[in-house]
Amino acid sequence: MKNEYDIIVAGAGLAGCTAAAVAAKKGASVLLLDRNVESEVGKKTNWGWTCGDAVAASHLDFVEKNTGIKFSSPELDKKVNGVYALSPDLEAKYMFDGLGYVLDRPEFEAKLLNIAIKSGAEYVPQFEVEGPLLDGNRITGIFGRDKEKNRKEYKARLVIDSLGIATVLRRRLPNNEYVQKEVDIDDVESTGRYIMEFDAPEDYDLKYYDPDNALIHLNQYMSPGGYCWVFPKSGNKVNVGLGVQRRSLQIRNEKLKKNDSLQKLIDEYIKWNPVLKNVRVYNKNNNGKGIWSVAVRRQLECLVYNGYIGAGDSMVMPNPLSAGGIGPALISGILAGQNAAEAAEANDVSVERLWKYNIEFNQEYGKKTAGLEVLRIYLQSLNNDVINYGIRTFLTVDEANELTLGKIPELSLSTKFKLVLKGATNINAFRNLVYSVNKMKEMNEIYANYPKSPAEYHKWVQGVRKEMDVVKERFKPNPI
Ligand SMILES: Cc1cc2nc3c(=O)[nH]c(=O)nc-3n(C[C@H](O)[C@H](O)[C@H](O)COP(=O)(O)OP(=O)(O)OC[C@H]3O[C@@H](n4cnc5c(N)ncnc54)[C@H](O)[C@@H]3O)c2cc1C
Repeated sequence: MKNEYDIIVAGAGLAGCTAAAVAAKKGASVLLLDRNVESEVGKKTNWGWTCGDAVAASHLDFVEKNTGIKFSSPELDKKVNGVYALSPDLEAKYMFDGLGYVLDRPEFEAKLLNIAIKSGAEYVPQFEVEGPLLDGNRITGIFGRDKEKNRKEYKARLVIDSLGIATVLRRRLPNNEYVQKEVDIDDVESTGRYIMEFDAPEDYDLKYYDPDNALIHLNQYMSPGGYCWVFPKSGNKVNVGLGVQRRSLQIRNEKLKKNDSLQKLIDEYIKWNPVLKNVRVYNKNNNGKGIWSVAVRRQLECLVYNGYIGAGDSMVMPNPLSAGGIGPALISGILAGQNAAEAAEANDVSVERLWKYNIEFNQEYGKKTAGLEVLRIYLQSLNNDVINYGIRTFLTVDEANELTLGKIPELSLSTKFKLVLKGATNINAFRNLVYSVNKMKEMNEIYANYPKSPAEYHKWVQGVRKEMDVVKERFKPNPI
């Protein structure tokens, strides 16, 4: 084995395997490193491949169009027609996101790894990445421990950081004006889920389980600052779990004089669901139960540094509203692999040269996320009563659908007041929705003008952060 490569890809999850496959196919010499053993590729932590496993078909289409990779059984475990979000009182539901799949994550990631290796990437499992090698203000490789726990260094023109949310590479970058090293804890959800088998009754209520659709239960008591989900899998299996914002959970517990943990909430949610009777943990691959974090803010404003590109959760890319991170991890993996290979070939890995990746990710996915973050912060400020009322009254299904896609419906106080909103709290919540929608529009415009070069970045990013601070100041978490 050599110890110098064009590109090191750190982390063989979704983003990493995809990036390695794409870069190797373009002719770069690629080293793909991960702490897992090969048979457990993509496992996030000792808890397993902890995820809701749901992905929109459009994201898989992007992969096929840009790489030729096609997915089928067994990695696509179950097709779903769409995702329904239900109000806390279960009286109203919105469909958002169309056709999608619930994945078998271990199979999905094994397939991607196989493609990366076949494309020419060298893969080293059981390697713990500990930090970046630096030459002044440029990343020149990584250091870490091999499977015998010996310290080892690998050098490369460029490192792709795909280590997931707990990345040690991003956190250990030199202080710099481009890549943010820490994120606000209020922008991170604590989440957990089971994969379970159950005895489906002959007749059941589709509000609790739907074999053809993914269900999301909005409920500030059951999942403060987040949501609960039941996603159907093949056979009588489900992926069932929930996420909370830690601050919202703390406020909810204080209000109720309780001390409920995330795990307790997950177990209570399963008991609450009348369809999930006689449940058993489905522990294939030791992946039946797990807890992990997911970030729900806009991706980091800049994803590159000298000799460094970030992709997937390491750059906090999941959708701020749905926490869906599979799609952006795959998209960014492809774009990172392409850009890294081109930069290595041009022998220029400067921030200036890598800037194209920022622009491409923004164009392909990132431009809507700051607006969605505004909406997420607004929603976290509503209690169950207002959510129940608002879902029935504030928006039509089409308007809600547009919003979840990051588009802006025409919404004004004057038109909606014709609907005769009742109660000061509800009227105030509607005013705040109008404010949020206008703010989303502003954020979309700011991101439509994403800086074309690093020279324009400093002023631009200050504007983004100022706007987001204003939103966070206005809307405080207020569960139950
Ligand atoms: C409970 C939960 C539910 C979710 N539900 C959904 C959902 O339904 N749909 C959806 O789209 N998204 C969902 N997400 C988010 C989604 O799972 C992630 O966005 C996605 O896994 C990100 O992929 P990634 O490749 O960036 O990172 P990861 O999947 O985290 O992969 C990182 C890889 O790096 C390795 N690694 C980490 N540190 C080191 C180190 N120091 N040395 C060596 N290797 C290391 C890990 O072992 C892993 O293989 C959910 C997340 C959680 C936690």
